[in-house]
Amino acid sequence: VFETDPCPECGVPKHISNEHLWLNSGVIAQSRDLQHRLIFIESENLDPLFEGIGTVIGRPIEKIVIDTARRATRLYTDRLISNEVRGLIRAKALSMEVISDSLKASGRMLGYANYLEFNYRYEGDQDDYFKDRVESPYSLPLLCGNNLGSNNAIDGGRWDVRYEKILPEVYDITTFRSKSPPEPEGGLIMKQYFHKDGDIELKKCSSCGCPAALSEFKWYLDKGMIESARTGRRMAFIGPQMLDAIFEELTSKFGETVPRLLVEEQRRFVKSGNYSIDEVGDEENMRNQFALRGLGDLRDIEVKSKGIRYHLDNAVLHPLLVGLAQGLYEKAFHVDSVVEWELSEKGELIVEVTAKVDSKA
Ligand SMILES: [Zn+2]
Repeated sequence: VFETDPCPECGVPKHISNEHLWLNSGVIAQSRDLQHRLIFIESENLDPLFEGIGTVIGRPIEKIVIDTARRATRLYTDRLISNEVRGLIRAKALSMEVISDSLKASGRMLGYANYLEFNYRYEGDQDDYFKDRVESPYSLPLLCGNNLGSNNAIDGGRWDVRYEKILPEVYDITTFRSKSPPEPEGGLIMKQYFHKDGDIELKKCSSCGCPAALSEFKWYLDKGMIESARTGRRMAFIGPQMLDAIFEELTSKFGETVPRLLVEEQRRFVKSGNYSIDEVGDEENMRNQFALRGLGDLRDIEVKSKGIRYHLDNAVLHPLLVGLAQGLYEKAFHVDSVVEWELSEKGELIVEVTAKVDSKA
């Protein structure tokens, strides 16, 4: 059972402040398991990002996205559900509605979707299915993967998924028992993040203890959406390990062009004004913005008209952070640029954006 009540002071649902910690290292972690990181980011560009990469590569990557999200969700949900609960569900002593309601209440607070209707059959045979009618999913393939992974964690069996568009923004997502023979699960590249202590002190809400800056985001629990009041952009809490695993999977299948493509897609998205970190140049503010989003610890940043160079500890999703720097720079200085980066095994990211010499200012 999750506490959905908003904090009277900052408006953040209590579940968010109870279950998550903003560490001094620019990391958001689950308070029950500090190894499990989350990030709080704009979600509207995720599906265009996947589509854009598919277009450049020349084939859709939806299957890879769904399957990687499934495997990552399975690992995550496995830890949430005890064997005892699993047994109760299989013995039907605990109804699927109860489990589903509770997972969905959490999904609404994380900004995933509006869950409209739930139908299912769960008898332990080939005709079993779970059908969710959802409105405005934060990402359609990621939500499909999330549903599959939850089934895997609860039931252990093999499931497939299909979705159908019912109305603009309304989808039926159905998971059903797989008829194809089991495949080896294969190794999922789940990044282990190294944690390096920092000294970031975000101002806290005096009532609930979460960062006070979260009060500029509005939780619409009835719609399963979080919005930045300042920019109107939709936000979501996402496991970066899931996205990093997708990026790694794509890179191993399609080669080293993938990180570059991700950087480029993100640069375009940020430059088009769809991102809400916008005060380039105020180092303290940028450092806090990164930490609020759980993107890492911005150690130093140099902003000049000729370029930006920064060093970030505890980095996640580095292609997106590289594209972010490039997009912010180009937007602030109205120039084209080139970007180089270096990522150490311990998550230290160095990004260098330089103005193109021939560009018109
Ligand atoms: Zn509060």
